[in-house]
Amino acid sequence: MSSEDDRIGLDCPYCGVHANMTPQSVPNAAQLIRTKPKHVGLVYQCDACRAPVFLRFAVKEITSDHVELYRNFVELERPKERFPYSYLPKHTEMLFREALSCYSSNNFNAFASMCRRSAASAFVALGEGGKLRAFEEVLVAQEIAGIDDDSFAPIKIILFEAGEEEYLPLLNRFQAGILLEVMKDMFYQCFVRRGKLSRALKVRRFFVEESNGNLASSA
Ligand SMILES: [Zn+2]
Repeated sequence: MSSEDDRIGLDCPYCGVHANMTPQSVPNAAQLIRTKPKHVGLVYQCDACRAPVFLRFAVKEITSDHVELYRNFVELERPKERFPYSYLPKHTEMLFREALSCYSSNNFNAFASMCRRSAASAFVALGEGGKLRAFEEVLVAQEIAGIDDDSFAPIKIILFEAGEEEYLPLLNRFQAGILLEVMKDMFYQCFVRRGKLSRALKVRRFFVEESNGNLASSA
């Protein structure tokens, strides 16, 4: 295995920083040549936080004197997706946490199923007209992101067409990434924005009432 340009830039699953990863533990070449595995695991060290990061590579070629790996790899631990869950209704929060955990584990179709359940529970919590409002938010997100209708169709089906036949389109990594951002934005617009604003206004009102009270008592 060559040792030049074997550093990798990656979002670290531990510290979240996009950091250089330096090889820390590399398989024994003689053993690879003898056993000819199809995949090889390497441990890298994050330059930012020093945590060990595990990557799996497919083997391109093993000859009697050298091992060549493909440059693509699978991250065995993905950075955790974050969201201000406390603003979500309890039921939606539970489902959306599981959705993001599926996404972080590269289980994109399990992620899509959990997005549908999270969305359905959010629509119930939003009450009358909630689903339509959420749909409008998603259309705005599509327009802002400039995503064409064909690429966006599976996202709409997953979120809004929960019907009797339970049809769900299969998603690849790219489409799952779009779904992730659309879900976060939809929940942000429907719950987080409102929750943050009303908390902030409550605090303002508290201080105004407080200072009015002080004025009244000192008068
Ligand atoms: Zn790190």
